[in-house]
Amino acid sequence: MLYPRRGSALVTGGAGFVGSHLCRRLVERGQRVVCLDNLATGRTENVRHLLDHPGFTLLLADVTEDWEVTEPLEAVFHLASAASPSDYLRMPLETLEAGSAGTRNALACARAHGARFVLTSTSEVYGDPREHPQRETYWGHVNPIGPRSVYDEAKRYAESLTTAHHRTLGTDTGIARVFNTYGPGMRMDDGRMIPTFLRQALKGEPITVTGSGNQTRSICYVDDTVEGLLALADSDTADPVNIGSEEEVSVLNLADYIRVLSGSRSEVSFVDRPEDDPHYRRPDISRAMRVLGWAPVVHLGEGLRRTLAHVLDREVFPDRQGTIPQQGRNGRTNHDDRGALPGLGRGHHP
Ligand code: NAD
Repeated sequence: MLYPRRGSALVTGGAGFVGSHLCRRLVERGQRVVCLDNLATGRTENVRHLLDHPGFTLLLADVTEDWEVTEPLEAVFHLASAASPSDYLRMPLETLEAGSAGTRNALACARAHGARFVLTSTSEVYGDPREHPQRETYWGHVNPIGPRSVYDEAKRYAESLTTAHHRTLGTDTGIARVFNTYGPGMRMDDGRMIPTFLRQALKGEPITVTGSGNQTRSICYVDDTVEGLLALADSDTADPVNIGSEEEVSVLNLADYIRVLSGSRSEVSFVDRPEDDPHYRRPDISRAMRVLGWAPVVHLGEGLRRTLAHVLDREVFPDRQGTIPQQGRNGRTNHDDRGALPGLGRGHHP
């Protein structure tokens, strides 16, 4: 059942990568937006274009501390949390706090306003999965004390807290299990795979692939992820919903494709895999399709091309080698009409 929510929205973590795209989209739809952020990993730059908009307010606050939103809210999107491994390994205690105290405060805010609450959980709740692709019914395979646990377990706790709020207090809640998302606006130094590969390719440095590169990822273009979050806000489902792309590729193929797309002559170099790094990642999105009527529409080749164009527009790479492949008349590179990538095979999985 869909209930279009077009009133004011709070976005915690709204100055981050996904949050800033969500804020922009909400404002474009004519909604008032309060963006709460402590700039731990986000940047004012991400929302600078919204700052003069009368419907947009930036509230500099830590979601785990005391704060209040006085204007009536119809939706609360809780995104505030470090999300890149290099960020959450640098801020382990803060990450646990954002998932626990931060989620508690954001839930309390939603409840006080009678607003729908949307938690951005993560595919990391599945850990290094033994089920492939991952359905929402899978409980996961997570090391509770490994280095990544500060993120994985914070999100698992946040899901549990959100569900208890719904069951006990009747709070209107939704849980998005977001899979790897990429697109314009990622920090080039945030340590995640796509910006790292792009930076290395554009600087002519070795592209560092972890392990054999056969591990797989399914990466979703940020506009699609944002539409999934909006669709979840407009629904009444309290069950977790996978939001991600079903286009699964091996990490090595992705590195290779980014090298070709950026016209780079960088070599691929293999480095150690981080502890508890998942072998496979691909969501089963049949629940999202059935309950939300949502599926991604931007194919990998097209999304990567847009991301690369954005990076080249913003950053200077004096040592950049090679040229960007010619674009066709439709503005796409020379791939098939849907922006699919030739030769991008899937990795091996059970
Ligand atoms: P990001 O680091 O770019 O954004 C997170 C934002 O939260 C930043 O602006 C940061 O300053 C803010 N923040 C962190 N702690 C805070 C606190 N205590 N108080 C207030 N603000 C705080 O990360 P992102 O990629 O935009 O991720 C956003 C959300 O989506 C996160 O909850 C993340 O777990 C989830 N998610 C993202 C991905 C992805 O691939 N990007 C995948 C799965 C889940």
